[in-house]
Amino acid sequence: MFFAVSSAMISNDNGLLDKGSLYVVSTPIGNLDDFTYRSVEVLKQVQLIAAEDTRRTRILLNHYQIKTPLASYHTHNQEKKGRQLIDLLKEGKDVALVSDAGTPGISDPLYHLVQLALNDAVTIVPIPGPSALLAALTVSGLPMDRFIFEGFLPLKKRRKTRLQELSQERRTLVLYESPHRIRKTLKELHEVFGNRKAAVARELTKMHEEVMRGTLEELVALGKDKNWKGEITLVIAGCSEKER
Ligand code: SAM
Repeated sequence: MFFAVSSAMISNDNGLLDKGSLYVVSTPIGNLDDFTYRSVEVLKQVQLIAAEDTRRTRILLNHYQIKTPLASYHTHNQEKKGRQLIDLLKEGKDVALVSDAGTPGISDPLYHLVQLALNDAVTIVPIPGPSALLAALTVSGLPMDRFIFEGFLPLKKRRKTRLQELSQERRTLVLYESPHRIRKTLKELHEVFGNRKAAVARELTKMHEEVMRGTLEELVALGKDKNWKGEITLVIAGCSEKER
């Protein structure tokens, strides 16, 4: 069903100003054609788009001829900027939040703004779309009826402990990883998890899209001399009854 985004300040029956809505808009993880009609409409109609990196978002907006003003909202300015955004919403302005790519809040900033919005009873509207975690899961070849998403593993502190805890998990595991650490992570996963099935999904929806499937041992061997580049999501089979 098509819907309209309110664009003016409207008084309710009590003569009070109606609040605007906060739209959480997912954006493509590579291929710009993966943007939904509804996302484009919402971004055209809101009064402000809060973006993690305004330069990156500008590329998407230009592609779709969206002329809505942009403001930066990221972890380092979330306190101050978050309050300013809430003030705008309370004045009746509609605001959209986007991250660099994919679904805002999935390993990027959003949680704080949602909390602020809820404290002030601002309506939050999801505009769903791409996310690397679901895209990777669907092509992994691993069970996807139940899964857990762990985001990025801790870099140092508690990394080993976290890996050991995760090794007992029965559900399929999805991790985000950087190309600089993928070799090390695959090796550690093999050491701690044993020789499970896994998939490495790289540059999904982009020109160099690649999905490598195999056991962790095979993936360690395949990745040893590979020149890892781009964005990577890892999917690993859960712990079987036998392994417990
Ligand atoms: N919010 C985003 C989402 O919904 O997918 C994720 C943001 S997180 C900061 C970025 C990480 O997502 C990357 O480091 C990579 O692990 C994963 N990622 C993003 N785009 C990807 C792609 N096209 N292919 C594979 N993994 C990707």
